[in-house]
Amino acid sequence: MKAIVFDHHGGPDVLRYTHVPEPEPRHGEVLIRVHACALNHLDLWVRGGLPGVPIPLPHIPGSDIAGVVEKIGSDVTNVKSGQRVLLAPGVTCGKCTACLAGNDNKCPQFTNLGYLIHGGCAEFVRCPEVNCFPCPESLSAPEAAAVPLVFQTAWHMLLTRAQLQPGEDVLILGAGSGVGSAAIQIAKFFGCRVIATAGNDAKLAKARELGADELINHHAQKIKDEVRRLTSKRGVDVVFEHVGTATWDDSIASLTRGGRLVTCGATTGYDAKLDLRFLFSRQLSILGSYMGTKSEFATVLRLVAAGRLKPVLDRTFPLAECRLAHEYLESSSQFGKVVLVVD
Ligand SMILES: [Zn+2]
Repeated sequence: MKAIVFDHHGGPDVLRYTHVPEPEPRHGEVLIRVHACALNHLDLWVRGGLPGVPIPLPHIPGSDIAGVVEKIGSDVTNVKSGQRVLLAPGVTCGKCTACLAGNDNKCPQFTNLGYLIHGGCAEFVRCPEVNCFPCPESLSAPEAAAVPLVFQTAWHMLLTRAQLQPGEDVLILGAGSGVGSAAIQIAKFFGCRVIATAGNDAKLAKARELGADELINHHAQKIKDEVRRLTSKRGVDVVFEHVGTATWDDSIASLTRGGRLVTCGATTGYDAKLDLRFLFSRQLSILGSYMGTKSEFATVLRLVAAGRLKPVLDRTFPLAECRLAHEYLESSSQFGKVVLVVD
């Protein structure tokens, strides 16, 4: 089969479009014919290499996969050949107490398709049967692939971790990112007031279209000053972080008393300072969040199928142009998801 493969870590030029053997589904697994695979910032980290994360090489990246079941392995009971599916990205043991409690994103063996195992930047990918969810019929394959990782991550952050309440003020950083564009919609779905930031006015206009109430251009304006002004000095209840070093100080300073900061990433760097006096005296909560559960994925999919949440697709590239797609994502000029299409 045709696939994107890298043999060593590095820049976009390590990505090769080549032929590799087609995988064979094992017990409880299915083989998916990939129609579309969305990129995530995770793909850039995986390609570049992460300290302490031994990614088996050669590697096929890609976590957000829409396609059709091509073949089923032994003892597969809930999925049929020919079925159109969208894959939950998280692959877990299914046996530990976290998995059994439905907290599968806390499984010690948690990984994503395309992270420690092969992913969907290929004609075929094998995955556990339990990762297959019916693809909403209203969505094209690229639209569907734009959903999983960012929507389940944003849902887990805002609902499960930050315990978002209707009517709260939420600061969403990086509205142009996939996870930011998902968070705006989820926060609006719960009747919150959304203050969104982005680096240019074109992205801010799109954030407005998604429902953002207030906009901050983080190149032209100081985030914490604008939040202070927009909230009459009160600050926001929840800060949705994934940017890291570049925004951390402003994010902390933007919280109201008792506010919660929830973070799922650090795209500009992971060094951050925290004045502990500020943390305890203002009774702040800092919450880490990682991916989401299959149950949350199912919830998100129901809302997407009902048209209440919408995938935000920036542009597509053919699979063969994966390198260009990585370069494009790295340039941060997108609004929403960048998706590879497999012919
Ligand atoms: Zn487990």
